Amino acid sequence: MEYPKNQIEFNEMFKTEQGCIDYLKSIRWPKGFECPVCGSLRYWEKNKSRYDCRDCGNETSVMSGTIFHKSTKPLSVWFTAIWWMIAQKNGVSAKGLQKILGFGSYQTAWTWLHKFRRLMVLNSRSKLKGIVEVDETLLGGKKPGKRGRGAEGKSLIAIAVEVKGGRTGRARLVKIPDASSESLHLFIENNIEKASKIITDGWKGYNGLSRLGYLHEIQKPTVKDEDGEGVLPNVHRIASLLKRWLLGTHQSYLNKNKLGYYLDEFVFRYNRRTSKSRGLLFLRLIEQAVITSPISYKEILKNHGA
Ligand SMILES: [Zn+2]
Repeated sequence: MEYPKNQIEFNEMFKTEQGCIDYLKSIRWPKGFECPVCGSLRYWEKNKSRYDCRDCGNETSVMSGTIFHKSTKPLSVWFTAIWWMIAQKNGVSAKGLQKILGFGSYQTAWTWLHKFRRLMVLNSRSKLKGIVEVDETLLGGKKPGKRGRGAEGKSLIAIAVEVKGGRTGRARLVKIPDASSESLHLFIENNIEKASKIITDGWKGYNGLSRLGYLHEIQKPTVKDEDGEGVLPNVHRIASLLKRWLLGTHQSYLNKNKLGYYLDEFVFRYNRRTSKSRGLLFLRLIEQAVITSPISYKEILKNHGA
């Protein structure tokens, strides 16, 4: 599948609305139109973006059922927004997007960014595997929290990361209610393939992983390393990256209960940190956009947090 390799190619490919529509068509229907209701391949073309199914009579536009559905903004504006978001190495703010696109409404910019974050998480749902470090970290709040039950004013984040020799692979971060074995086992089963080797510290919430079909290694701090900083170095590094990123980019993360979305964005960026190609990330998000149902501002508010 074709994608723009740089800004000049992006400008060239998407300089007209029709160029954007054709690109979306080629991703949604690579073998030609297919009726989303009955699957028929027979159609009348109503205009450049709308089709009538010859078998069931359903009228479809290339945008229907995608995140662009019923938008009053041209596709070219959507594409520009996605392209811009991907280019920002350290995350984005709704204010920044509003400025770039000249939107009158902050709420529209805010809603779009959350739509994009949703695409980011749906984009890579295959489970982690191999050797995986798992730990939890507490975010926010002033007092140090207690492990095992939710600390007041804090969010507990479960972190898993693949370890490949001296490097890390993909990561997963999810807000969890507490550090009980019920919550931790659920996180692990949802995010890590069976038969993987899981490395944790000695916390009792991780007991029983071998019964679930995992290999389980417990790393204990040495006598010299009483605070445990020497164990699980990879998850600890991700936890501190996350904290720095949230403080630098999304300072509102604590009071607005948007943490779940920010974690998704962080994971998307982390998992693609070595990807040199902005265009490929753009393609991945557009591919996800055409198979993702539209979501409204209200629904985004409702789904906030974990
Ligand atoms: Zn049909």
